[in-house]
Order: sequence, then C-alpha cells, then structure tokens
Amino acid sequence: IDFEQASFKDFENPKGYNVYERSALFSDYLDSLDKRGHLNYRLESTTGCGPTVNMDIKGFGGPRNYVGLVSNDYLGFTQHHLVKKAAVFGITYYGTGAGASPAIGGHFSFHQELENKIAAFFRRDAAIIYTTGYTANSATLLCMLQDEDLAIIDMGVHASVQEGLRGKNVKTFLHNNLEMLERILKQSKGKYRSIIVVIDGVYSQDGDLAPLDQIVELVHQYGGYVMLDDAHGTGVIGTTGRGVIELYDLFDKVDIISGTFSKTFGHIGGYVIASPDLIRFLKFQSRQHLFSATSTPAAMSIIKAIELIDEEPEWMDMLWENVRYFSDGLRSLGLDIGTTSSAIIPVKIRDAKLTGEVSRLLLKAGVYANPIIYPAVPKKDSRIRMSLMATHKKEHLDIVLNAYEDISRKLPIRLATEV
Ligand code: PMP
Repeated sequence: IDFEQASFKDFENPKGYNVYERSALFSDYLDSLDKRGHLNYRLESTTGCGPTVNMDIKGFGGPRNYVGLVSNDYLGFTQHHLVKKAAVFGITYYGTGAGASPAIGGHFSFHQELENKIAAFFRRDAAIIYTTGYTANSATLLCMLQDEDLAIIDMGVHASVQEGLRGKNVKTFLHNNLEMLERILKQSKGKYRSIIVVIDGVYSQDGDLAPLDQIVELVHQYGGYVMLDDAHGTGVIGTTGRGVIELYDLFDKVDIISGTFSKTFGHIGGYVIASPDLIRFLKFQSRQHLFSATSTPAAMSIIKAIELIDEEPEWMDMLWENVRYFSDGLRSLGLDIGTTSSAIIPVKIRDAKLTGEVSRLLLKAGVYANPIIYPAVPKKDSRIRMSLMATHKKEHLDIVLNAYEDISRKLPIRLATEV
C-alpha cells in the first residue's frame, strides 16, 4: 500500500494480513501521516465544547486557544448554567448510573419524562430513547427490517443508518435526486412487504436540507414509509427549532423521526419517535434497548435543554445571526460554501492535499476546523467543514474570515480560480 496515496479505507481489509498484521500496518500508516503533519484526528482539548478550545498541538508552539468550529453544540447548551444544574441534580438525586437495561430495572422516572418530553416536542405521542443517536438509528433499522423488506436510502445518510442496514435489502439514490428515488420506488412496488425510505433532514457534510415535502408525498404515493434523521436540524431549523419537519409543517406526516441528544441538546443519547405500536415493539424487541444499560441520570440535563429551546429562543436567533454573518463573509471572499442552509458550513477545496494544507494554515492562525476528505466525501469533494454556535462572537468569526483571506492569497482556494 502506497502510504502517500492511501486512505483509512485501504486498511479495512487489506489482502493477506491477519488482524494483528493489519493493525501493525495501519499503525505504520498513522506514523507516516503524523510525520508528514497530516494526523489531524483526535486532537486533545483541555476545555469542553465552546466557541474557543484550548489545545497543545505538536509543532504549533505550545498550548493556546483556538476558535472552535468543530462542535455540534449549536446553541451552546453544554455550558448553559441551567442545563449543567439539571445534570448535577440528576446525579445527586438518582446517583451516577442506571445500573441495568431499561427492561430489567434501569428505567427511572426521568427516563420516562424524557421520552414523553421529546415525543411532545415533535407533537407526537410515543418515543424510545437510546444511549446514542448512532444506536437509535442502527438498532431501529436492525429490528424493523426483515428479509422481505427494503430500505431505500439517500447516498448521504449517516454511517449509523448504513450500520443498521448491514445484510438487509438496500437500494441507494443519488443525494436528493427525486427522479431516481421515484424510479426505485416504481421498480420495487409490490416486490417487498414494507419499504422504508431513510433520509437525513440536514446533511452532515454539506449542511443542505432534504426536500422533505416532496419526499414524503412521493414515498406515501408508493405505499412506503419515511424515516427522517434530523440530528443536525433539531434546535436549529424551523421557527421554534423542531427541525425540517417544522419548516415543511409535516409533524404528523413523517412516519419515523430519529435524532440525537449529543448536538443541540448538549448531552449524549438518541431517540426514535413513531406510532405508539411501533415504539412499543422496539421497547420489547430491539436488542440494544433490552440488553444494554440506559442513560445516566446526568441525562436530566436533556429535559432542561428541550425546555430551553422554547423558553430562551434568543439562542437560536444568535446562531442564525452568526450563520448569516459568517456565510456572507466567506462568500464575499470568493469561497465556495455550496448549498448549505444550516449551521454546518463547508468551504469546498476539492483537492485532498490542498484541504490538508488549508487545515494546517487555519490551525497556525488559531482556527480549529475539520478537513474532510475521501472516503467521508468523494475525492473531488474535499472540504473544510465548520459548524457554528450561538456563543461564537463576531470577533471569533472575524479571526476565521481573516485567516481564510490570508490563505486565499497563498493557495488557490477561491471559486474564481477554479472556473
Ligand atoms: N445522525 C447524524 C446525521 C449524525 O451526524 C450523527 C452524529 N455525527 C448521528 C446520527 C449519531 O449521533 P450520536 O453522536 O448521538 O451517536
């Protein structure tokens, strides 16, 4: 394997290596990335989520504060005093752990309150919670779909959806391509017992939205069901933060809603909302719910975070003011931010090497943003991916904009130079 050209994917199953040889080979690859200054993963921060993070990155001159553009804590709730207070109360009252799976003793009153609260947030009656959003998606699909069923997915859906579909019947349509979706629906109609179309509300790499209204209409027309993962839209999109479902006013039309408590809700955990029967089915059939302990009582903070979305709408206003200011600034520098309509903002660089270079220059300028390259996105679609928070100040965003202006003088990253 040529380390200069390789990506993580090449080490998943290289021919002729047993598991120990494979990990040794991968370790050598990581060392070579590190030597070339490309190992920009698992950077260690001494502070929590916030508009700035403190890190001591090798070769970057000791500990310093960086403007952080890597957090999905969109409204800044991980640091909200009432959210923290609720977590402390939960631990003080119930203790630090749930001690068992929900089926056999680990289901406390606050877990039930949380399920009721998140269902009501989406104007629905029933929800089930999991310990992560990843588990919520994968467990639900694993449990629901059998050999006679089919999942149709947008090619941009999250890894957790793909995980739940391993070994299942799956067809994939090009991102947001409704003609292709309809073609697959037409071909598949009558051949499967149930058809579930799985989409994200906000796509995590481009920050663009699903045309939910058209998808719901189309899928229902062919007798299918829609499962929507709105991990990045919840608390961000829609006048009261209910996500793309609110934007299109489809509260009672989306069959299954999934999401995470690890982003806007400032904690960890996931949820699925669906008809009371389907939720009950999952509570008694989904292995990850039956055989795995549930969230710790610190998750009482999520109940407060859900309330705060309605009680303190100013956080969403601040977030959107930042989104507008920052996107306008990037566009006026001639950078390509694609089709984003959310708090996820990419700068398309379109070349993996150049993307790595830009990310290092950003770090030098005190800006921490993730380089995204193949296989997370196609090779020609490499980018710097940033997410904004309500708690970013204008001066933080100006540091980033100035850094891009500087970099664009040194490297060919402006849109005009590509045309
Ligand atoms: N869905 C999407 C679209 C996501 O981006 C993520 C997290 N990156 C998840 C699900 C998984 O959520 P969690 O972090 O709670 O496991």
